[in-house]
Amino acid sequence: MERVILHCDLNSFYASVEELYHPEVKGKPVVVGGSEDERHGIVLARNQIAKKYNIVTAETIWQAKKKCPELIILKPNHKRYEKFSLRVREIFLRYTDLVEPFGLDEAWLDVTNSKYFGTGTEIADKIREQIKSELGITASVGVSFNKVFAKLGSDLRKPDYTTVITKDNYKEIVWPLKATDMIFVGKSSYEQVKI
Ligand SMILES: [Mg+2]
Repeated sequence: MERVILHCDLNSFYASVEELYHPEVKGKPVVVGGSEDERHGIVLARNQIAKKYNIVTAETIWQAKKKCPELIILKPNHKRYEKFSLRVREIFLRYTDLVEPFGLDEAWLDVTNSKYFGTGTEIADKIREQIKSELGITASVGVSFNKVFAKLGSDLRKPDYTTVITKDNYKEIVWPLKATDMIFVGKSSYEQVKI
């Protein structure tokens, strides 16, 4: 039987949680990261507006500020992210016991035997809705017949989107992508393949 796998990715997770605690920053470019006076403080997460300034995760706060002088920097609160991550997991467990977390903001769900709740796509949409209405943050979900394509799906359209990759459409979707878009193909293995 074909498996039905979801991959759920919370969008701009740290930044989205911090925005809930700092409503005054809404609509402004925000990153979560190390302190500004330490030159090596780095960007851990950015909101959608900061992304438009080409600010990237893991660059220094100092570099990010050069791209966007009005950038707001919020300190990380790991306890908060753990709490939100657990509450998201509680939502997943309404649909399946087969949840495999990957960090605080990603998880695979095997919903092959969860037909009672609907198709994979319907479950993905319900999960997105519940995360949004109960927690105030958004998620992108990929639905597919294996973990790699489910993960790829959650990456293709965001924020707050369900992307379905089936045995019928995967060639159209996957083949045009660069190898580096695939999970487990890091930059170094890509370089090796090119040689
Ligand atoms: Mg994420």
